[in-house]
Amino acid sequence: MRSPEPTIAGTPVGDPAADWLLGQSAALIVDLDGTLASAGLRRQLRLWREIGAEGRVLAHLGAAMAAARGRRHRDLDGFLAETMARRASVPPHRARRALTAVVDGAWPRAFAGASVPPGLLRLLRAADRRGLVRAVWSDHPALDKLAAMGLGGWSVICAARPVGALKPLPDAGWGLLAQLGVPPCRALLIGDRDDTDGAAAAALGCRFLRADAVEAALAPSRLRGLASRLV
Ligand SMILES: [Mg+2]
Repeated sequence: MRSPEPTIAGTPVGDPAADWLLGQSAALIVDLDGTLASAGLRRQLRLWREIGAEGRVLAHLGAAMAAARGRRHRDLDGFLAETMARRASVPPHRARRALTAVVDGAWPRAFAGASVPPGLLRLLRAADRRGLVRAVWSDHPALDKLAAMGLGGWSVICAARPVGALKPLPDAGWGLLAQLGVPPCRALLIGDRDDTDGAAAAALGCRFLRADAVEAALAPSRLRGLASRLV
């Protein structure tokens, strides 16, 4: 797959507020869904158009993910498909197909045109200016979503689902930090959920900041929350 071109440009000369949030971090790790790209209304409508008949099955994805968290799975996709199939009263192969065709297909395409919330964008620029390495840690495969958004410059892009250990289990995060060559105490994780991202950061031993706290600190006040609702 073609690597997306870096688009996090326009680095300001200095940004004390963003620098203060970064502290002594050597690595910035960012969650994707709900953090780097919010579930904007326009994208949700586009996605629901593409989901079509699979909506009945995928309505149970959240419950299947919740049931899977906290445990390590040899075949996590199989567990998710079986759980969704049981709840929706459909054959498991149909739930598996929905996972592949929609969650890993139509869903990433729905990220085209999604923009990074302004506060987080400012933090990413500050990280680039200071020479931090940047990484994405998502539950779901993230390469196609980042490519659709046109966001590059990541040192590592890691997904927990293929590892079989969703957040808050730290397994995928350990691999990510090993690839970055950064100890947990020098990493800052940004995410939108305390129970998954925040708990994963605690399990890893790295700093955590909630995405809404980053926006509160760095986004222009009139833009806070507005961008996430519209993109
Ligand atoms: Mg998230």
